Amino acid sequence: MKAFTYERATSVQQAVSMAASNPDARFIAGGTNLLDLMKLQIETPLHLIDINHVGLDKIEATDDGGLRIGAMVRNTALAADEHVRRDYSVLSRALVAGASGQLRNKATTAGNLLQRTRCPYFYDTNQPCNKRQPGSGCSAFGGFSRQHAVVGTSEACIATHPSDMAIAMRALDAKVETVKGDGTRRTIPIADFHRLPGDTPHIETNLERGEFITAVTLPAPIGGKQIYRKVRDRASYAFALVSIAAVVQPDGTGRFAIGGVAHKPWRMGEADAQLKAGAREAARAALADARPTEQNRYKLDLVERTLGAALAEAKG
Ligand code: SF4
Repeated sequence: MKAFTYERATSVQQAVSMAASNPDARFIAGGTNLLDLMKLQIETPLHLIDINHVGLDKIEATDDGGLRIGAMVRNTALAADEHVRRDYSVLSRALVAGASGQLRNKATTAGNLLQRTRCPYFYDTNQPCNKRQPGSGCSAFGGFSRQHAVVGTSEACIATHPSDMAIAMRALDAKVETVKGDGTRRTIPIADFHRLPGDTPHIETNLERGEFITAVTLPAPIGGKQIYRKVRDRASYAFALVSIAAVVQPDGTGRFAIGGVAHKPWRMGEADAQLKAGAREAARAALADARPTEQNRYKLDLVERTLGAALAEAKG
């Protein structure tokens, strides 16, 4: 690990000021992904700002009937919250499908959104990777691509986004609240928070340098049967090959987001509109622009079948 300096912030204002005065700094909270990346020297911040003591650890009702989740709420606490379990059960289910109990105890809401891909070539510093080292090439092309993205890809990168939580938040139309170094605040719909790889796969979100996530808000509950199904290589502690976060209403209409298929949580309005027609129609609409490799073509069928299982579960 490269040497770095460390300081602890005790307020959001202090944290953003520290970041504004040090462009090589990174925020650290649970550290469940960042520390691994630092040990491998994939991330080499010169300075860490510990944000574990800034507050932002509450889950509160909003004026419009929704929920505001503080950025520092741990994944375990969010999954167990009575309002989340009752009104946003797809989120609770997605959270407990991710990582392990120990990791969920440390991982935060904001950190979960910002975790980086688990493409094995990204973590193998002997291999070219445009995300780790822009311009070096993509080892997944022509390599092992079974786990990789099938839609929204580019010539530069076919990595997937790893979060389960974010897939459920995409289905729920969550919004991300932030504050910048100059004190200005903004709200980013989660649909616009993560980026597709394009020519710059190393830039994964639309956050500006030093911009600090303060909360995630959920709109008022939308009811329906809420399902999260995750298909993975082993029963626990594994990332999704494919996952589905679905909210299905009694009349068969609804919405769904897909994990494990793209560089961001994947959701298409046209596909939601096809949900009542069935899993095949909806899955095909969602993945109409897919460009799979020979090794991950199976994901197209897997999405359809996983969505079909979710719809069957929703119908009881
Ligand atoms: Fe790197 Fe993306 Fe290619 Fe993986 S898919 S090797 S993360 S550029």
